[in-house]
Formats: sequence, structure tokens, C-alpha cells
Amino acid sequence: MRIDIVTIFPEFFDVLDLSLLGKARQSGLIELGVHNLRDYTHDRHRTVDDTPYGGGAGMVMKPEPWGEALDAVMPDLVGEGEADARGPVLIFPSPAGEQFTQAIARDLAAERHLVFGCGRYEGIDQRVVDHYAARTRVRLISLGDYVLNGGEVAVMAMIEAVGRLIPGVVGNPESLVEESHEDGLLEYPSYTKPSAWRDLEVPPVLLSGNHGAIAAWRRQQALERTARVRPDLLPG
Ligand code: SAM
Repeated sequence: MRIDIVTIFPEFFDVLDLSLLGKARQSGLIELGVHNLRDYTHDRHRTVDDTPYGGGAGMVMKPEPWGEALDAVMPDLVGEGEADARGPVLIFPSPAGEQFTQAIARDLAAERHLVFGCGRYEGIDQRVVDHYAARTRVRLISLGDYVLNGGEVAVMAMIEAVGRLIPGVVGNPESLVEESHEDGLLEYPSYTKPSAWRDLEVPPVLLSGNHGAIAAWRRQQALERTARVRPDLLPG
């Protein structure tokens, strides 16, 4: 998969050199480009924002640098109304977007090219979204019902969630199957050695060697935890 990120803070993404995603980049499973939006400005101050039409507090990101940057990372976009179903998916993190979920992560993990546009200030001029929505698939995605200073942290979270679903990134694919949100439930609690720690024992069923009983216990724990913490996930 190819991932391009446009941001005014490229350094935020240095951490993508680390851990499983760093290995995925080294092995070529993920090809990453991080682009500084200010490289697409033409004034001495490398300006990317201006005051909002209609007044109000804060600044809005200007369309011209965004247009130049996004044209550069998506050079093959065709004309208006001709979005290619296999072309790039352009994602703008936004608190006004659809809520990011494991299902969206799975959808995005099947794509060939993701482009992320990190907003700052009061966000990006709406015409940037409208222009590209007529030419490729565009999604506004929110990390949750709160407001961050910029899109970078949201994009990091999305790339981590999507990246680990790309075949080959996580060594043992079975470890992806039983996780929270994969089957609509939160995961059951996990334990490792020693079997007694301080005054706490591992639940005896996990030491029984009875795989049927262990599976039933885990399912029950997952149901109880989900009902307690996230009842909204259970069918009504
Ligand atoms: N004025 C915008 C609004 O009320 O919808 C919020 C702008 S916010 C201060 C600046 C940038 O942070 C946004 O353009 C977006 O890229 C990012 N951002 C903030 N909260 C986010 C969230 N919950 N999910 C994803 N991105 C977020």
C-alpha cells in the first residue's frame, strides 16, 4: 500500500520508522511519503492560512497550497465526475466527519493508495474537499467526539489501525481475529505467567487445558465486559 500525508508538521510522522509499521516500510509492505504543505507556497513567509470569509475567530487553511500539494501526490486523477474506483482515497481527519471504526480500518486496509490531509487552525477551505470529491473518493473521518489541535494525531491513529490489517504486517494473523471490535465485542481479559501474582490468581479455567471451557469462559467475559463498558455495541 502507498500512503501519502500532507501536513505542516512532517516531523510528527518520524515515529512511523518504529515498531511494526517501521518494519512494514522496510520490507516494502507500506510505502510512505510525508509532504510539507509549506513546500507548495510561493510567498516569503510560506503562508498556509488566512482569515475566514464571513468573519469569526481563528484562521482557515488556504486552498492554493492544498491544491498544489494534492495534485502532486495524486498526479493521475482524471476529470471531474470520473473518480476511479481503484484510485486513491483522500482522507481529511475532521471532528465533523464520520466516526473512525474497525470496519472503516478494514475497508481502508484493502485500498492501494491512501492520502491524508492534516488540517490545522479552523480547518481547510471547504472548496478543497469539494474539488477532490468530484475527482476521487474523499472521506472526512473523526477520531472521536472531541477536538484536537490538528489532524496529525488522528492520522497516526488511523495509519496504525489500518497498517496492522495489511497482510504480513502483524506476524501472526490469528492475533488479529480475536481482538476487541473484530466480532462486535470487547476482548476478554488476558493473563500470562506467573499463575499467582501478589494476592491475585489467574482464573483456574485458563490453567485447565480444557479448550472448550476456555472458549466459553472467554466468550462470557467478552459479553459481560461489553455489557458493562459499551452496552451500545450489543444488539438492542
Ligand atoms: N473548526 C473545526 C471544527 O469545529 O470542526 C475544528 C478544527 S481543529 C482545531 C483543527 C484540525 O484538527 C481539523 O481540521 C482536523 O484536521 C483535526 N481534528 C480535530 N479534532 C479531530 C477529531 N476529533 N478527529 C479527527 N481530526 C480532528
